[in-house]
Amino acid sequence: MNKLLIRGATVLTMEGQDAIIKTGEILMEDGWITHVGLPGSAPGYFDMDEVIEADGMVAMPGFVNCHTHAAMTLLRGYADDLPLMQWLNEKIWPFEDKLTGEDVYWGSKLACLEMIKSGTTCFGDMYAFMDDVARAVEETGMRAVLSRGMIGVAPTGSNALQEAEELVKNWNGKADGRITVMLGPHAPYTCPPDYLAKVMDLAAKLKVGIHIHVSETRTEFYDILKQYGKTPVQH
Ligand SMILES: [Zn+2]
Repeated sequence: MNKLLIRGATVLTMEGQDAIIKTGEILMEDGWITHVGLPGSAPGYFDMDEVIEADGMVAMPGFVNCHTHAAMTLLRGYADDLPLMQWLNEKIWPFEDKLTGEDVYWGSKLACLEMIKSGTTCFGDMYAFMDDVARAVEETGMRAVLSRGMIGVAPTGSNALQEAEELVKNWNGKADGRITVMLGPHAPYTCPPDYLAKVMDLAAKLKVGIHIHVSETRTEFYDILKQYGKTPVQH
């Protein structure tokens, strides 16, 4: 059995206010946390394979990034400081039309690496080529909630629904339970009400959640209010 001790860190156990251990230690056996406590309390204290001295550091559960398009790490710096719709229409969507599954795989892997380095262990991703994203998640050891982004007004709209259903069948609960799949209608301004209704029906049928952009900009808020008489969230 491999025993790893992390000692000296401030441990956030996330079990309430009193559960912060100012100077604590964490014992891991074969990759599982088996003990959290005060200094010197770990069983077999003098019998560790590895000790990490973590004075001045914090040990805590991983961060969760609730909304990503992980593979867009490759587009970093490509188009900055533009209003959302101009950014999407003129720069991002034309670029994304050229992406391949292989691109998305490597972009997602880079994103996973950067997330791991900054303490993020789980992310909620909406993109295309989701089989390739899932593969990246499986290989990196992260947890992820994946959804195939669906644009109802695009010619690919109904295809995307099929792909989303395939993704649920192929990946929900996979990678030792680290991958969860949801449906990802892109936004109220790209998915008309009848399309959103189809998504809701499919989500109910498959018993999965929904991941959507909503109220991203002031423009969207007032456009949707004008169009449907409701705020984007109410809509
Ligand atoms: Zn987004």
